[in-house]
Amino acid sequence: MRADDPPGDFARVRELLQGAPFTSRPRSVVTTMLRVLFTGDTDTEISARGFTVRFIGGRTLSYVTEPAAATLHVLLSRANICPRGQPLAFRLAEEDGHALVGFADAARWVWIFPGDDLVLVSLRRPTCPGPPPADLPPLPLPTPVKKLYAHLALPLPCPCCGRSATVYRAAPDAWICGDPRCGRSFSPPQRTRALAELREDAGVVVRESSARPKIYR
Ligand SMILES: [Zn+2]
Repeated sequence: MRADDPPGDFARVRELLQGAPFTSRPRSVVTTMLRVLFTGDTDTEISARGFTVRFIGGRTLSYVTEPAAATLHVLLSRANICPRGQPLAFRLAEEDGHALVGFADAARWVWIFPGDDLVLVSLRRPTCPGPPPADLPPLPLPTPVKKLYAHLALPLPCPCCGRSATVYRAAPDAWICGDPRCGRSFSPPQRTRALAELREDAGVVVRESSARPKIYR
């Protein structure tokens, strides 16, 4: 709930979907909102309480409702759709999606359900040619995130605590020290990262009592 969300912003969404004329200047926030909506498959709820986008994997992002009407207006205009208060389901072609968001893989099936208190907008990557199916496919279930571990032939000292180890938890942009008293993350040297073997098992964590930064950094 956003206390600062003026109730008129959701009313503008409702009016737009009823077919009321809409004028707005192009704004960068609209492109930003569209890029968020086009992040793979998304389900978006727009209400007087705000604008919440749900992604595959359960992650959500919330915004104020203010840019919602302009965002939907740009999306519908691009698809040549004139809303009249009815639920909408249409296909946005690749070139139209690309024109809106500026990246490739932007064809989408779009569903819009204009409820009185809640407007639902769902985008899915098309899985076949043609218009969207009558039934909106649910967002795919989240795939469990597998932990990856970087295995090193030679021990590497943690730059935070100095403990050496041959195994580090490998996050997408950092390695994480396995010492429970440290647990901090750092960027490994490029050469070390290139030599590491990424595996899903942590193996046996070998630690040395003395750091050897001159050799391995
Ligand atoms: Zn450490």
